[in-house]
Amino acid sequence: MQVIILGSGSPLPDPNRAGPSTLVRTKAGDLLFDCGRGVLMRAAAAASGAGAFRAVFLTHLHSDHITDLNDIFTMRWAMSLQPNPLRVIGPIGTAALLDATEAMLEPDIGYRIAHHDDLTWRPTTLVDEVEHGVVFEENGVTVTAGPTDHSPVRPTVGYRVEEGDKSVVISGDTVPCTGLDELCNHADMLVQTTIRRDFIEQLGIPRLLDILDYHSSITDAAGTASRNYVGTLVLTHLVPAPAQGTEHEWIEQAAAVFDGKVILATDLLTLDVSG
Ligand SMILES: [Zn+2]
Ligand SMILES: [Zn+2]
Repeated sequence: MQVIILGSGSPLPDPNRAGPSTLVRTKAGDLLFDCGRGVLMRAAAAASGAGAFRAVFLTHLHSDHITDLNDIFTMRWAMSLQPNPLRVIGPIGTAALLDATEAMLEPDIGYRIAHHDDLTWRPTTLVDEVEHGVVFEENGVTVTAGPTDHSPVRPTVGYRVEEGDKSVVISGDTVPCTGLDELCNHADMLVQTTIRRDFIEQLGIPRLLDILDYHSSITDAAGTASRNYVGTLVLTHLVPAPAQGTEHEWIEQAAAVFDGKVILATDLLTLDVSG
């Protein structure tokens, strides 16, 4: 099992970091977690794409995590040679999001069906709204969802992917909480969205200060990893994106709390999940 960070960025546009998105390459195929800005460009670089995703998992419906869902929706449909429903698994609200996405794309759907004689079907989706428990099981790969805490964004979920005795947790945006702890128990890897609290406090911009109360700081992320005996902590969704030469400061803040391996994500970073 491999983890490929497709986008390590945040809501803030960045020339080097696509929006939040992580690909987990498994024996059951490519599983995509969130689909932020630029996801299909990065997926192409990882030899994947809309037609290859076995399922798309959403952690929550904040715009930065779903910006390019419409691109996946369209490419999955318009580039297929036969009906190929897009499977989307996400929190309550996901079905309405897909309905709204389809409604937004209605003119485009009409144009393409009118133009291509061999495209005779509309895009289709298979949507599962989930809260906790096993949400995907194929080819010896299991994905379990659990509730996270990103209030006032509700509901939100994190996911644990297991293949054989290897496991990786995709936290989504959350503060430390029991639901995330349960997902993380003895996981080989935790991919955790993270903000740098000391920087944001220094900046003192009200709109940015607001984000402190519903994300994990580096110390929070390291605490979750440590408390749950995680092997490797991957920090992603970095706010603010680290200036060149300051990456070690993020690692050091985490290492003060967590004894395991700490990795700062960059786009297309590819990691083998090992025990
Ligand atoms: Zn969020
Ligand atoms: Zn976010």
